[in-house]
Amino acid sequence: MRKKIPLHTQIIAGLVLGLAFGLIVIRTDIPSSFTIDFIKPIGTIFINGLKMIAMPLVLASLIIGVSNLGDISKLSRIGGKTIFTFILTTIVAITIGLTLVNVFKPGKSLPVETRESLMALYEGDVSKKSDAAAKFQEQSPLQPIVDMVPENFFMATTDNAAMLQVVFFAIIAGIALLQIPKSKAAPVIAFFDGFNDVIIQIVNYIMLIAPYGVFALMASLIVEIAGDNPDSAFDLLYALLKYSLIVLGGLFFMMLVIYPLLLKSFTKVPYMQFFRSIRPAQLLAFSTSSSSATLPVTMKIAEEELGVSEEISSFVLPLGATINMNGTSLYQSVAAVFIAQALGMELSFSQQLMIVLTSTLAAIGSAGVPGAGLIMLIVVLESIGVPAAGIALIMAPDRILDMFRTVINVTGDVVVTTVVASTEGELPEGLLHKSNPFTANESVQEGS
Ligand code: ASP
Repeated sequence: MRKKIPLHTQIIAGLVLGLAFGLIVIRTDIPSSFTIDFIKPIGTIFINGLKMIAMPLVLASLIIGVSNLGDISKLSRIGGKTIFTFILTTIVAITIGLTLVNVFKPGKSLPVETRESLMALYEGDVSKKSDAAAKFQEQSPLQPIVDMVPENFFMATTDNAAMLQVVFFAIIAGIALLQIPKSKAAPVIAFFDGFNDVIIQIVNYIMLIAPYGVFALMASLIVEIAGDNPDSAFDLLYALLKYSLIVLGGLFFMMLVIYPLLLKSFTKVPYMQFFRSIRPAQLLAFSTSSSSATLPVTMKIAEEELGVSEEISSFVLPLGATINMNGTSLYQSVAAVFIAQALGMELSFSQQLMIVLTSTLAAIGSAGVPGAGLIMLIVVLESIGVPAAGIALIMAPDRILDMFRTVINVTGDVVVTTVVASTEGELPEGLLHKSNPFTANESVQEGS
């Protein structure tokens, strides 16, 4: 019987073929409108499908996640560990970013003419992003906490960027379920439990088109970046190569050094196996640039492949997808210092400390959607007195860096989940059990 290709291999193939297709289109006479009109929609359907279930999933999984913990003391223990590890990994990420950007000083080597043409090119875009960030700047420092509490819960559920408000509601609702009589709580929990399974099943359906969706996303990304002038995107990228390499270097350092260290110190999980298991989630993070859209797959892998209990994964992962963004915070710290360097500003030690604080908050405040980190970067810049217009300098490679930082954001979430699960006595032998959830059915079919 013909062997079925595993899903992650299919997704990689979609990714590579999509990139190749995009490059062929921009290098030949094939009109780019064909890609935009007929290929991009497949990617949009795929990504919309994932986004469609992100909000109900966060709501249902957090409500059952909290209520399954059984009692408030367990909630505060696991919650405390989770938040502590989120903040720790975020600060480590920012420190790595700051160290690299201070050692290599990529901003100092940006030619003045390039700087001026970049500023002129992105003037319009910057003002749009600044408007979005302006509301953060005029507010009290406590505003991020105020923003967590929705005025209207139902309105919050209509906006994927307001995920943190839904997280807040779901945690409170979960706590309330722990405190009302069991007979009343049970049917509510059973409802959300079933609802959660329905959503996970929908993920399976959506994943059937993942390779095609990823192909379409990649092909249209290349065509759109290139626009009318295929060389312009590459010229700009080249000018910003040093900056981009530093962001990427920091992200890879997290992936290859910090996460393995964490796994080795706190779990018995072999990290090669760990990374192999989470590959489908990483590939999706890369092609969708959205932690929220990747969440359903991340949860499925944590439970079905890594063997983390539903109790922990349904609490830590939705929270992580909204507030734990190691890649974004690393990128924001590099970008802030790079812009200051390029504009000829020296940053003092206390300004750099300020970056640690504001990047941590900005990453918490960034929604898990494409480009959110760039908007929140403005808040970081303002806090250290660097003009927000400076984001024009880094806009060109941002879309691509977003893909890489989202991979780290998602990886960081799974690492923290695995660490919390292990310290709770789960995964005693570091056992990564069962087969890949996305290929399990295939092996059944193969055997039949
Ligand atoms: N796209 C990122 C995410 O979804 C956020 C960012 O823009 O950095 O995790």
